[in-house]
Amino acid sequence: MLLCIMMKSDIIIIGGGAAGLFAAAMAATKGISVTLLEKNGRCGRKIALTGKGRCNLTNTKPWEEFQHHVHPKNIFFKNAFFSMDNIKVMEFFESMGLPLVVERGDRVFPKSMRAQDVTDTLVSWMESRGVDIITDCEVEEIIKEAGSGIFTVMADGSPVASSKNVIVATGGLSYPVTGSTGDGYRFAKSFGHKIVECFPSLTALVPAGYSEQYHGISLKNVEATLLINNQPVQTEFGDIDFTNGGMEGPIGFKISRKAVQNLRNGQKVSVLLDLKPAVSLKQLADRIQREMAALSAGQRDELEKNQERGVARHLLPKLMPKALVEPFVSSCRTNSGSSKRGLTIENLPHLLKEWRFEIRSNVGYERCVVTAGGVSLQEISKKSMESKLVQGLYFVGEVLDLDGDTGGYNLQIAFSTAALAVESICRGL
Ligand SMILES: Cc1cc2nc3c(=O)[nH]c(=O)nc-3n(C[C@H](O)[C@H](O)[C@H](O)COP(=O)(O)OP(=O)(O)OC[C@H]3O[C@@H](n4cnc5c(N)ncnc54)[C@H](O)[C@@H]3O)c2cc1C
Repeated sequence: MLLCIMMKSDIIIIGGGAAGLFAAAMAATKGISVTLLEKNGRCGRKIALTGKGRCNLTNTKPWEEFQHHVHPKNIFFKNAFFSMDNIKVMEFFESMGLPLVVERGDRVFPKSMRAQDVTDTLVSWMESRGVDIITDCEVEEIIKEAGSGIFTVMADGSPVASSKNVIVATGGLSYPVTGSTGDGYRFAKSFGHKIVECFPSLTALVPAGYSEQYHGISLKNVEATLLINNQPVQTEFGDIDFTNGGMEGPIGFKISRKAVQNLRNGQKVSVLLDLKPAVSLKQLADRIQREMAALSAGQRDELEKNQERGVARHLLPKLMPKALVEPFVSSCRTNSGSSKRGLTIENLPHLLKEWRFEIRSNVGYERCVVTAGGVSLQEISKKSMESKLVQGLYFVGEVLDLDGDTGGYNLQIAFSTAALAVESICRGL
């Protein structure tokens, strides 16, 4: 239920996700009055899903490395990063009573490994400092009165809050069930802002002929090369998962941004998987010869009679996870991509190092991790996150045309942009 009285405060924050909660916690720390409006019955629904329920809340890499994980314009993000960098974010959470740990890949998690603890920590910090959190409040419109410069925020047809400063932290379009349905773009447009075309990023890529045979297979330490119109544009080493959505997991996600962008532009998108990146073609051919020499006479006989069946039965299980054998053989047989070579002993090293997938489509907003595109950075001050068109209006987090790779970069973008907005509002109070 909405409050009947209109809240007046130094800052109104719209959206109780990562960016909105962090902004409110920062403001509360500085002792300024805040009203936080969240459309769901509780804050931080998306945070609960992050990092597979563990919340990878930042990454300890220094800016020199960190910047390469921020798109499309990391230079825009630099000021925000340095106003609240990854180390300061960690210190802030620990000072609020949330111990953290750093894992492989410099990824930071709560020690409890519970994403919910991140939200609970922020919310209890804010509550103990008197932040007004109004849930079940879906903001419909933001109105700015010309003379006074005061914003009135409308929900359910009535004014709910007013202030000289509004921070829009409504997120993007990914995982709409969490409340992120792109409302911030509408608010931005109503004030004349341009929206850079949005598309799903960090999402599963769906190869042609993708079938249930693949579901549930995970490969470790492989290399994926993204080809656009047959030209290699990006190579990533690591783990890949085949799920009921498509190819995803760490390196699947890493190549997905460019892949989706190019699919949308009608380009030919393919992925080459190298299942044995640690060895050369020659070394792999030698290994296969050694495996053949170790076969029994009967197995060698079968291999000679029917190479495809013999390779599938006696060699592939020694070279890849058993679950992968069937889809690998079918892919070679159905002539998709490199399979034109056919599954023979001679071709096997090539096939293992260049397993080709033609990408037909991608999984959409319903299951992507982040939205690329958003409120154009050209009309936002990188020094304050304030709109260059409307004084007192700020945009932070995923609603902006800023997104990161997997590894804690997106939450750091949310935290840093939120902190910078609050800092610059405080300077003007
Ligand atoms: C499954 C999944 C896992 C992820 N894992 C990680 C991870 O481990 N590490 C990482 O860095 N990033 C991760 N991300 C990305 C990260 O969660 C987001 O980039 C980040 O949450 C964006 O924060 P935000 O506050 O800008 O938006 P959101 O978190 O989307 O929050 C927006 C909030 O605004 C509210 N809202 C929207 N419209 C209105 C309105 N009209 N009125 C009132 N309230 C409104 C929404 O209900 C929501 O609570 C993951 C994302 C997903 C989907």
